[in-house]
Amino acid sequence: MDFTIAVLPGDGIGPEIIEQAIAVLENIGRLYNHEFRFKEYLAGGAAIDRVNEPLPQSTVDGCLKSDSVLLGAVGGPKWDHLSGEKRPEKALMGLRGGLGLYANIRPAVLHEALREACPLREELIGSGINICVVRELIGGIYFGERGRRQGDFGEEAYDTEIYSVKEVRRIARIAFEIAKQRNQHVTNIDKANVLESSRLWRSVVIETAQEYPDIQLDHMYVDNASMQLIRNPQQFDVIVTTNMFGDILSDEASMLTGSIGMLPSASLGEEKLGMYEPIHGSAPDIAGQDIANPIGTILSAAMMLRHSFGLENEAKSIENAVTKVLAQGYRTKDIMSSNMQLVGCKEMGRLIAAYLV
Ligand code: NAD
Repeated sequence: MDFTIAVLPGDGIGPEIIEQAIAVLENIGRLYNHEFRFKEYLAGGAAIDRVNEPLPQSTVDGCLKSDSVLLGAVGGPKWDHLSGEKRPEKALMGLRGGLGLYANIRPAVLHEALREACPLREELIGSGINICVVRELIGGIYFGERGRRQGDFGEEAYDTEIYSVKEVRRIARIAFEIAKQRNQHVTNIDKANVLESSRLWRSVVIETAQEYPDIQLDHMYVDNASMQLIRNPQQFDVIVTTNMFGDILSDEASMLTGSIGMLPSASLGEEKLGMYEPIHGSAPDIAGQDIANPIGTILSAAMMLRHSFGLENEAKSIENAVTKVLAQGYRTKDIMSSNMQLVGCKEMGRLIAAYLV
């Protein structure tokens, strides 16, 4: 098969980690007889430096013409003095909105070889941690009406959480579809004991669940969920939740797996076009030193194969190669421990590409 991938390396370690993900995809193409065509576009600080805006229209158009988008990371101290609309991070919001990417999927998997990197006690890790957080990405309080006004106590500020039936139904379907491929279990997380928006959210999730009779659905309030993630992370398979709750809980879940450099993400919409990126930022403190961990980006490429291209075997091949390389004791600096073999970003990418079968 034949796919065009828009590549947005961005800033800091972005270009280094993207190079490794491309090398892995090229090897997958050779092994499984696919052609991946990579087209590079400007985004973030790199775009500001060249064309004076973080998200040029040519980048949005290029992404829309592609089968999928692979993003490194954007931002850095060089552009920190710029105001809101001109900041590199604006590219992220613009792409999510512009491409209609309403579902953010963040699998948090603790690799067996990295058990000691997990901050939880051994008995709590048990047989392992493998959670998939499905977060609504372009609605809720981050996009609702906001403002400042004069109230009884002087100046006050407000943000509004709004969810429509349509927005909840489409994110719930994504969660149920993912659960079908996993352990058939969805936990809906909300605050339905207090918030009206959560009560609507929960009722729509329950209604949508009728389309998926084989999936077990249960509900948890967000305060309890934040505790349960630490107390008993094994009880979770797929979590579905709102934009703000997902933002917070997915960071909590990522910490259970050791390094931020390990975790991939996918942002999906109605179309097959998705955007894939590691969950970390541009790490300017380690840029250009060949010490960044490329695994989060390489696993994002695996998610692209699975979710946008329907290439499950090829996605598994990448995930298995990562597991094997870690089991062989190879580590980048962020996941290094005693008696392991320290490798750089390039070498880690080369090893994973070489372990593909
Ligand atoms: P960060 O994720 O870039 O870095 C946090 C820490 O983790 C740093 O010590 C960094 O060295 C380390 N780290 C991150 N990724 C790593 C990897 N792959 N391998 C090894 N170590 C890694 O977060 P930050 O320092 O808060 O932000 C830096 C810049 O990135 C900021 O401009 C921020 O706005 C931007 N940012 C961008 C995105 C994105 O593009 N999606 C996300 C978050 C932050």
